[in-house]
Amino acid sequence: MIVKSQGRCLLCVRKAIEGKYCKYHYDALQSLKEHYEIWRSRYGELSWYDYLKRLKKNKYTGKWVKEVIEVELKKV
Ligand SMILES: [Zn+2]
Repeated sequence: MIVKSQGRCLLCVRKAIEGKYCKYHYDALQSLKEHYEIWRSRYGELSWYDYLKRLKKNKYTGKWVKEVIEVELKKV
């Protein structure tokens, strides 16, 4: 039997609102993207992958964001 994963967040049991994430994880992804632009304008070229790696090691990175990073890193 094929289980349809659509409609649920990839990372938790909440309902997905945008694509594959729930509101909280989607917000985390959006803030990741916004910060990526800021980092690039400040520090020059930085790949999405390196950026995620760096944030993952940062102790100030929030829990929601870290969970999203795990998923995004697997896609690269
Ligand atoms: Zn979620």
